[in-house]
Amino acid sequence: MGLEKVADGVWLLRGDFRGAMNVYFLEDGDGVVQFDAGTKGMRKAVKAAGEQLGGIKRVVLGHAHADHRGTAPYVGAPVFCHADDVADAENDAAITPYFDLSQLPVAWVRWIYPTLLRHWDGGAVRIAGTVAEGDEIAGFRVVHFPGHAPGLIGLWRESDRVALVSDVVYLVDSGRLKPLPEGEASVPHPAWAWDHEQAKQSLRRLAALDPCVVGAGHEPPLRGESLRATLERAAEKH
Ligand SMILES: [Zn+2]
Repeated sequence: MGLEKVADGVWLLRGDFRGAMNVYFLEDGDGVVQFDAGTKGMRKAVKAAGEQLGGIKRVVLGHAHADHRGTAPYVGAPVFCHADDVADAENDAAITPYFDLSQLPVAWVRWIYPTLLRHWDGGAVRIAGTVAEGDEIAGFRVVHFPGHAPGLIGLWRESDRVALVSDVVYLVDSGRLKPLPEGEASVPHPAWAWDHEQAKQSLRRLAALDPCVVGAGHEPPLRGESLRATLERAAEKH
């Protein structure tokens, strides 16, 4: 799968399981910043995309879950994340300690996730530095959206209302391993949550930004002028 243009200076690479794993590239001078790191199986495609875009200067993780840090050790660029996700990023466990797979509703899905997570993971990541709320990254502002992960961050560009948000919102039904119907969204399933109530609060905060493009961690971006209502409704599911 090739690079898709999401917005001015923003590119999306989709890969791995059903093409549902997203890695974003943000033009920054003569190269790019990589936002989120997908799965280990995407490492060659990420390298090729980075070269095509002038080279990856640094990697910023939206959060440290296995399916978001997979390529990070293989890119050859320094990796940054929020301070509250450093410990999980630098831990070699593919299954993040606060995950509670017993909450997933379907037996075969509960059973297969440990295998999937280990397959997706690229292992422990050395974190070169941290980013925090308000920092500027390639023309975007860092927003801290704790809940699904303690150090979950999104990137927000007010000028064209583009939000890149990792797993602040799901466009997938992770409990059944399939996409949600087009245009639908939900707060991530509580099985993955560090703090599910905070995850809902963070999703309401994203809604309040009133974005017209939302690039999530999985599935193609949401677009439209009524995303605020979609996101507000999503915060009440689960
Ligand atoms: Zn996640």
